Amino acid sequence: MATQEVEEIFAEILERAKALDPANTRKWFDNLVVLHFDGGLLRIGCPNEATVQFLQDNCKNNFTRAAQQITGHLVTLDFTIDVSERTESDNRRYQPSLRLHPDYSFENFVVGPSNRLAHASCVAVSQSPGNTYNPLFIYGSSGLGKTHLLHAVCFEAQRRFDKAVIQFLSCEDFVNRFIRAIEEGNLAGFQSQFRTVDALVIDDVQFLREREHSQEEFFHTFNALYNNGKQIILSADSPPGKIPSLEERLISRFNWGLVTRIDPPSFETRVAIVQKKAHVRGLNISDEIAGYIARKVDANIRELEGALTTIYAVATTTSQKIDMELAQTALEGQIEAASKHISISDIAEVVTRHFDVRITDLQSRKRSQSITEPRQICMYLARNLTRHSLEEIGGHLGGRDHTTVMHACSKINQAKDNDPKINTLLNELTKQITQNRKT
Ligand code: ADP
Ligand code: MG
Repeated sequence: MATQEVEEIFAEILERAKALDPANTRKWFDNLVVLHFDGGLLRIGCPNEATVQFLQDNCKNNFTRAAQQITGHLVTLDFTIDVSERTESDNRRYQPSLRLHPDYSFENFVVGPSNRLAHASCVAVSQSPGNTYNPLFIYGSSGLGKTHLLHAVCFEAQRRFDKAVIQFLSCEDFVNRFIRAIEEGNLAGFQSQFRTVDALVIDDVQFLREREHSQEEFFHTFNALYNNGKQIILSADSPPGKIPSLEERLISRFNWGLVTRIDPPSFETRVAIVQKKAHVRGLNISDEIAGYIARKVDANIRELEGALTTIYAVATTTSQKIDMELAQTALEGQIEAASKHISISDIAEVVTRHFDVRITDLQSRKRSQSITEPRQICMYLARNLTRHSLEEIGGHLGGRDHTTVMHACSKINQAKDNDPKINTLLNELTKQITQNRKT
């Protein structure tokens, strides 16, 4: 095929993929290039590893569907780094273990009074790891930007210090790897992996609660790194002293450096965030609409984003322009659901009652069908009815990592499409959960 023809087809595929999944559409899709399109293989070139991973994790199915719809053929997709596009900094040693989200950069973070100190301390640490605030401890409620800032620190530190070894992981991931190392009799391997890094970044350390052995291991890891002047960055939903059943010696160490809080954003910051998010997605929305969204959603930023996605989805599926009327219609139902503040415990309560299992079963490692099904349904409902992240949902359900939650959600989604009984069950459970909240 002639190059121009390939490019035109690819442009159509991209348009279709965007329409299929507005939530995962980004402005930088326009910078993707076709490296190869032949014999049913479409190889797409990306500027860096973070974007390759984003596409693999979030977009592969929809891109594949789009490609098949546009070409009428079976197409296999492959995302890869476009070597010709590599700048010198991209050519530096990349750490495959460092899975970063391309959206979560400092550039995409809106600074306001609610997060100014947390942001400034993250910037300082990224410029001089180990030498400024150590440890750096960021806390705040769900959806206020903790994970975003941690990713941004990693991006920036890696850009500046190409040789620095950075470990970024969720607390569940740390705990799970520790448990696996013990099971496999490879504690030494685990220890050398974590005690030799230049920076250790652990998200959501509140999940260390009730994990005595992991706390013990974490304590020694902390000491080893700290004594060698290595950077430690932690996030949690509450300050160190308020994390239930966290050992005193850990609390005191977490307080050694800088503890900084993120508060819910003000109206002006929310407007700026909506505009930033729209920009990242390549959307144009008026100040009036940004203001409307920011007024409607006032606590959790993940909900602001959800509102924007809903509006975009309605606009694409109905081929309408985004105006105030459309925004209002699109958000009516959503805001109502979000304002009920459903928690993962509300969901677990209804699900365990229906299946006659205990919450501890859902949190256990048990893999029998009678436990896995309710566990996966619980994850699916938490994903759909709350604004908790995959990591947080996994954390609540026995410290499972985000890929497990992602897998559960896609499995239940499929089951729902194929089996009307599951669909009815999900509707029934949803009804009970939302009604529970009202009373
Ligand atoms: P947390 O880890 O505190 O629960 P996240 O970091 O996952 O919250 O943030 C939730 C969403 O809100 C993410 O999409 C993130 O990019 C966005 N977000 C939070 N704060 C900001 C901000 N100040 N500017 C831009 N986006 C933000
Ligand atoms: Mg988080």
